[in-house]
Amino acid sequence: WLQRLREGLGRSSGKLSENLSGLSRRPLDDALLEEIEDALIASDLGPAMAARITAKLAAEKYDRQVTDEDVKRLVAAEVETVMTRVAKPLEVTAFPRPHTILVVGVNGSGKTTTIAKLAHLFQEQDYNVMLAAGDTFRAAAIEQLEVWGGRMDIPVISGKVGGDAASLAYDALTKAWEVGTDVLIIDTAGRLQNKAGLMDELAKIKRVLKRRMESAPHDVVLVLDATTGQNALSQIDVFKEVAGVTGLVMTKLDGTARGGVLVAAAERSGLKIHAIGVGEKLGDLRPFDPANFAAALAG
Ligand code: GDP
Repeated sequence: WLQRLREGLGRSSGKLSENLSGLSRRPLDDALLEEIEDALIASDLGPAMAARITAKLAAEKYDRQVTDEDVKRLVAAEVETVMTRVAKPLEVTAFPRPHTILVVGVNGSGKTTTIAKLAHLFQEQDYNVMLAAGDTFRAAAIEQLEVWGGRMDIPVISGKVGGDAASLAYDALTKAWEVGTDVLIIDTAGRLQNKAGLMDELAKIKRVLKRRMESAPHDVVLVLDATTGQNALSQIDVFKEVAGVTGLVMTKLDGTARGGVLVAAAERSGLKIHAIGVGEKLGDLRPFDPANFAAALAG
């Protein structure tokens, strides 16, 4: 999977290499610093990090020749530092149980698959898990979750298509409580086209969960598709507003991803990064490892 991650970050890191190539021909001055800063931004790292890296580069190398390797070394170090601050796996901390995780994100981001992968991860840690098919708008999402649940021998609470997601979530939490489930993972709708409707629905789900269990939901996890590049950043803003997101999972970092955007996402949102998706199988959700990520990104 590391190889797949490297490939997935290839577009961002390839862009970085391309943008930095030929640096060594000139000594470092203000114009070159500006060029390098632009190259870093174009490689999806975000303006804040680009500014810090160029400031460090200036302190080290002003008036001297600079190579792309110098820049990449600083990129790797800075990315690792920033990402180490935000890397945090999901943990089952709620007492009493169940630890309740609400999963949000736009349709197609990999939400359903990520829920199955998370369930698998918790199962491997000997927790018992329950799923709730709270994306009641999409028959396919309900079915898909039931298929995953069947494969893993995990109960899936589901209702009719078009049913009330909040009452389904309430029923699931009640059931999970009664049978002593450790982790309840709740799927939600991802219809950003109807932002006000989605906001009402998510707020209602959170309200009824709280009514049943004061501390729930314990995590609100946003699933982001790395292949959408900068779009992922605006999704963070929207879902922070509509759902009170507490952490991120970024999927499809194995594909033709612009994985550098995860750095900008972390910087801009300050949210925890729980895990990354590097494939379609159950085992393809990896804890986020800043050192590997930074090395792969800097190429
Ligand atoms: P949802 O609409 O957000 O629930 O998205 P799905 O879970 O149905 O996923 C949409 C598509 O993305 C499916 O074909 C998944 O197999 C695929 N997918 C999800 N996560 C990953 C990932 O990490 N890597 C790759 N390559 N594909 C993924």
